[in-house]
Amino acid sequence: MSLEWSQCLICRIPVHLNRQLSRRIPLVRDPRLPGLSVVRLILHKCVATAFDMDSILKLAPLIREGAQHANGTSKSERHFLDFVVEGKSLWEALGERHDMVSILCSEYSLDETAKAVGRLLLNGKADLPNDRRSFFVCSECGDLGCGAITAVVERQGETITWKAFGYENTYEDKIFLDAYSTVGPFTFDATAYEHTLAQALDVLRRAKS
Ligand SMILES: [Zn+2]
Repeated sequence: MSLEWSQCLICRIPVHLNRQLSRRIPLVRDPRLPGLSVVRLILHKCVATAFDMDSILKLAPLIREGAQHANGTSKSERHFLDFVVEGKSLWEALGERHDMVSILCSEYSLDETAKAVGRLLLNGKADLPNDRRSFFVCSECGDLGCGAITAVVERQGETITWKAFGYENTYEDKIFLDAYSTVGPFTFDATAYEHTLAQALDVLRRAKS
C-alpha cells in the first residue's frame, strides 16, 4: 500500500494519503476551492466535512462460532453480514461486546430479515419506541427481549442518516447511549444505500435456497 504525506488545505494539518484508496474515490470538484485536488486530501476529516461527503455502506460476512460446553450449554453457529462504514466494522464497535449478530443473519427467517431491512429503508415502522430500529440482535433467538443495538434512521432529501446508536431491551425504559456515543452519525447517499441493502437481502435469499 503506497502512502504519502500531504497537507490539508483547509486546516493545514498534515494528512497521509493512501493512494490505492484515493483512486477508488470519485473526484469531487467544488467551485469554492478552485484547483484543489480533492482526491489527494479526501481522507482528511476536515475536507470530508467541508465537502459534506457521504459515508459508504458495505457489508462483510462474519461467522459467530458455535460451541458445545462441558456444562451442557451451547452456542449456535451463525452467519451474518456485518455493516462496514468508512472501513470500520459496526459489529466490532457495537455488537461484539453483547455477542450479537446483525439483523442480516442467514439462520433467521427470511421474512423477519426482509422486515428488518424494510425498517432500515424506512419502508416499515420502527420496531422499538422513540422511532428506533434494530441493527444487532440476540445471536441465539433474535428476540428484542434479549436486548438489541438500535439507532435512529432518518431520511433527508437524497441522504439517509444513522444516528444515536444505543443498547436497549423491551423490559427497561432506559436506552443506553453513552457507551456508543463515539459511533456515528453516518450519512449515506440514499440510492447507494438502498442498492446495498437490496443486495444483502439477495445474498441471504440465495444462501437459503
Ligand atoms: Zn435471545
